[in-house]
Amino acid sequence: MLSFYPGPSKVHPEALEFIREAFDQGIVSINHRSARFEALLKDTLEVLHAKWNIPSDYTIYFISSATEAWEIVAQSLIERQSLHIYNGAFGKKWAHYTQQIYPEAQSLAFDSQEGLAELKLPNLDQIDTICLVQSETSNGTGQKITRAAFGDALIAVDATSSMGGIELPWIEADVWLASVQKCIGIPAGLGIMICSPKALTRAEKLGRKSHYNDVLLMEENRQRFQTHYTPNVLSIYLLNRLTHLLPNLSLIDAQTRKKMQIWEDFWKTNQHWGLTCLIENPDLRLPTVLALHGKPEYIQKIQQTCMAAGIELGKGYGDWQATTVRIANFPSHTEKDIETLIQLLTHEL
Ligand SMILES: *Cc1c(COP(=O)(O)O)cnc(C)c1O
Repeated sequence: MLSFYPGPSKVHPEALEFIREAFDQGIVSINHRSARFEALLKDTLEVLHAKWNIPSDYTIYFISSATEAWEIVAQSLIERQSLHIYNGAFGKKWAHYTQQIYPEAQSLAFDSQEGLAELKLPNLDQIDTICLVQSETSNGTGQKITRAAFGDALIAVDATSSMGGIELPWIEADVWLASVQKCIGIPAGLGIMICSPKALTRAEKLGRKSHYNDVLLMEENRQRFQTHYTPNVLSIYLLNRLTHLLPNLSLIDAQTRKKMQIWEDFWKTNQHWGLTCLIENPDLRLPTVLALHGKPEYIQKIQQTCMAAGIELGKGYGDWQATTVRIANFPSHTEKDIETLIQLLTHEL
């Protein structure tokens, strides 16, 4: 089975050996307040900073999922009012959950064929936090994130299906969040939250420590190379070993874009499948998730063809369920994997 689902997706095959290693070395049983864990966490944070080119004054936290990070942003960092700017299902869900905590949270929905950069923004005077989605996995749009348009507000960005696959402009936002079962290519059950000094300053100003996962409590633990709860140590170990193994993110970024170009060229020249890129402007496409659009019968045909050959593609999501199919292009997807799928698609008609 080869999975091109945008998450959970194909796991790096090397992970199997690392899981064995974690068993053999007793890592799966270590206590999260032990010196061994502290050494593992310290090294993991260091290698992530180095390989992903994360500024040294940004801090990294391990949590359980991207969804949890949405809630941490609301509990620890939103002062009074957030503005959620989105064009798809994940951004909408984030706004929804925040509105349960802050009923006045505002939303600005935009069309998926439009770019975030061209939007006309409302008055931001009352807004202290802006919530953006860099990688809208549901429709395959990828946004360019810049602080410039948002004044002094804190900026939180969901990069769940791009983190680890493309370079992200860390300094252009204050919170970056993701989970590992998408672009990072390890089994589900770990979330990552990366915070700027400005985010920590906001957390200190608000002083909230009422939830076990408030940023201030996570930071107190991080300073001791511990975590605020018993974390998924196995996943932290896998992330550690994989990040050491994989090249610098700048190189991964180039590989990701090269592989996406293979797909874009393929779909331009193979129109008999009745599928075209959902997002018309190539600059607005996410390099890590390709959404293809077509009539429901064409969508069914490609899904069935691939399933029969042991290859799983991503279903359409939400409003796009019947008329799109999604193909993940994560670092775990090799050019050989893509070639396998292309061979199938070329010979099956
Ligand atoms: C998958 C996804 C999430 C949710 O991730 P979980 O690990 O299920 O919490 C959030 N945002 C985006 C953009 C996603 O693709």
